[in-house]
Formats: sequence, structure tokens, C-alpha cells
Amino acid sequence: MLHAYEVVIGLEIHAQISSKTKMFCSCSTDSFGKPPNSNVCPICMGFPGMLPATNKECVEKGIRAALALNCEIPSFSKFDRKNYFYPDLPKGYQISQFDQAVSGKGFIEVEGGRRIGITRLHLEDDAGKLTHTSRGTLCDYNRSGAPLMEIVSEPDMRSVAEASAYAQEVRRILRYVGSSDCDMEKGMMRFDLNVSLRPVGQDEFGTKVEVKNLNSFRSLERALEYEIRRQEEMLENGQKIAQETRGWDDDKAETVSQRGKEQAHDYRYFPEPDLPPVEVEESRVLEYKKELPELPRLRRARFVSEYGLSEHDALFLAEEPERADYFEEVIRVSGDMKKAASFVTTILFGALKRDQRSLSESPISARQLGTLVKRIVEGKLSTNQAKGEVFEAMYSTGKDPDAVIDELGLSVVSDAGAIDELCKKVIEAHPGPVADVQGGKEQAIGFLVGQVMKESRGTAQPPVVQERLRALLGL
Ligand SMILES: [Zn+2]
Repeated sequence: MLHAYEVVIGLEIHAQISSKTKMFCSCSTDSFGKPPNSNVCPICMGFPGMLPATNKECVEKGIRAALALNCEIPSFSKFDRKNYFYPDLPKGYQISQFDQAVSGKGFIEVEGGRRIGITRLHLEDDAGKLTHTSRGTLCDYNRSGAPLMEIVSEPDMRSVAEASAYAQEVRRILRYVGSSDCDMEKGMMRFDLNVSLRPVGQDEFGTKVEVKNLNSFRSLERALEYEIRRQEEMLENGQKIAQETRGWDDDKAETVSQRGKEQAHDYRYFPEPDLPPVEVEESRVLEYKKELPELPRLRRARFVSEYGLSEHDALFLAEEPERADYFEEVIRVSGDMKKAASFVTTILFGALKRDQRSLSESPISARQLGTLVKRIVEGKLSTNQAKGEVFEAMYSTGKDPDAVIDELGLSVVSDAGAIDELCKKVIEAHPGPVADVQGGKEQAIGFLVGQVMKESRGTAQPPVVQERLRALLGL
């Protein structure tokens, strides 16, 4: 490269609002895997004369999300019709928010403390789904009218990593406040990105290209990497970047031009005459603000400061609210932060990952796992037993740890008398090593500890065994 370029990225994130019913009708939003067009009504099919009604829950969840993104909430907002024709849009327009959205400007901080500005969050309804076949195009309107929020960022991101970190943090925030499940596999979260390049040191933005409809973090990153390289090469060859909209072809791993600036839509926005505007009192906004949970960034910071977790472990354990709650419950029950972190991250999530299960499908509750860890802390179980046979039995049966310990007949050797008995037995059986230890060969004690552990079937605690052996040998 002859020149050094700076990348400028902005993101639009579409997330489905978690609600039982659609944005403007009472059809269910749960149509994943349902037969096509089984989840529709005259309103979301755009029949003449239909009358939409705003879903209050969706507006509230939009406001909660906006507040968590540090956005201003205006007292007045309204819906507008965004007019265009496409077979997946039976009304002939999308109901969206044009100039007076439910939220104003905000920001979030991403890793490294960089602040990314948010232009606004607005509400809208989704289109249907088209499937192109050799015999024609099939229309499924189950998703038509599903509630969406669109979060528009400022062009504040300067690298692929930063754009990805921003998108992932927005996802965490939306899940923390319960505004969206953001299940990528069910298409609940999609990204459009704007990307342009400019010579380092130049204030003016370069010509931006829009890449639409990315449905995973991986495709977001790959599309960005491709687009940056493509634009860099064009600029280096003295070519002009065309302002256009491109799509992402995941199989070919490239962006493809879809339409140029001259084909840009004129949506002829006008206020939706069938819906009243949304008015929110300031006192209500304050209540929503108060009701916000501890947000991911603060929870991670607290995990680091309060529990001494590494940034890496804190990021993992605070990824979603259910996981963070589970972890804190295991700490509460067991009283041991370090062991709780290790059992949740390594043992439990190891098993869940192996079986491709989510935490909500875990056969072991937080209370049960906490009790298991507590039994180690109390010296009633060795760490190896807990991690091994006891955990596996709990995981496959869902039984409480104490029931499993009973069933497996794990006679736990923890009292001093029982350990002394075993130590004496081992001392008698191995006069050679005993003589070595007494003769000053310190390391030979390891052998004796090992023998006692074996006698206790792994249930004794090695430091305790070592201490009792030393006492009995008069060391
Ligand atoms: Zn409907």
C-alpha cells in the first residue's frame, strides 16, 4: 500500500423485540418452524380496511433498551409509513419511525473504553420471508409484522474488531434488559453496515458503501474485512468508490453490488394515519431508568473487583444475565468464589458444550452445583470426586449431590481419627520409605501421602494427610 487509510464504520442493528405478539396485531411472534402463513391475520397481511394497534409492551421494551444505551427519550414520538413495493411487504409500506423516533442520541463504551455514539433507536415492523425456487417465489408472511427495533450508530468505529465488539456489546445489553433474545440462529438480530476509507489525517469522510443483511458476527467481520480490502485496492489504483448498496455472499466470501445511488429508494415517508403518536411522561422515563438492571459492563467490572476474576473469565461469565445469575448463585450457596468460577466455566460449561446444550437446558441447577462445591469446601468430598463421578452422575440424572454421594457409597474420609488410622496403616506397610523420610529424604513423604490417598479412595485432602503423617512420624 502506498497510502495509509483510516477505516470509518457505522452499524445499523435490527433486533426483534421479545414480545408474545406482533407489533401492531395480536398474532404470535413465535412462528419459528411453524407451517408457512399459519401465523397471520388481516392486519399483518395488509388487507384493505385493517386497523393496526400499537403493542405497548414493544414500545416499553424499546424505551428500556434505549435507556440502557444511554439514549435521550423524547416525550413525543410517532410512527410513519415507509412506502415501497416488494412481495414480502403485503401492506405496500413498512410502519417505521422517520423523524420523531422513540429515542434520541446515546452511546455505549466498548473494550478499551472507546465511546461509540448511537444516533437513535426506532421501532418498526418486519417484512415476510421469500423463498426463491425453480418454480417461482414462495411468500411466507409468518414474520410479517414482527416487532423490531433498529439501533443506528454514529460512524465512530475504526476497525473490524471495534465494530464486532460494539455489535456484541449491544447484543449483551439488549439481553440484559430483556428487550430482545437476540437469537442469531432464529434471525432475531441482523446487521447493516456502512464502511468508507479516508487517508489518515483527513477529516472529510470518504464515499461510503452500505452492506446489508448480515446475520452473524462472523459474516459481519468477514464482510467488513472484504469490503475494506476491496476499497483499499480501488483507491490505490486511483479508482473512485461508488456510493452503493451491496449484499454479502457467504459462500463466495465477497460483497456484491445490489443497487447504486441513482437507484436509491424514495420512500415517500408520511405520518401513519391509523396510529396515535406515542407520548411518554418524564416521570415514567425515570421509573424505567430506575428499573434497569446492572448492565454488562458494570457486572463484568464487579466480577473482576469483587471476585478477583480475570477479564477473560468475567467476560465469559457475564455474557448473558442467566449465566451471570447462575454463577452468583453458585457462589452464594458454596461460599467459594474461585471454586465456583472453575466449576461453572470449566466443568459445567464443558459438559454443556460437549452436548450442545444451553444453560437453560442444564440438568444441574445453580443451587445443586453450589451444594456440590460446598461439600468440597467442607472437606466432605475431594475435588477430583466432585469433578468426576459425582458431577457426571448429577449431570446425567439431575439428582442432588448428597443423594448421588449416598448412592455411590462414597465414604468420605474427613475426620482426623479416620485419617490417622489410614496413616498408621501406611506407615506400618512401608518401612523403607518411612526410614527415608525420617533419615531426611523429605521428598519420600510424597509416596506415603499417595498411599494414604489410595487407601481413602481419593477422598482425603492431601494437605491434611501430609500434616498427619508428619505428626505421626514426629517430624
Ligand atoms: Zn397479525
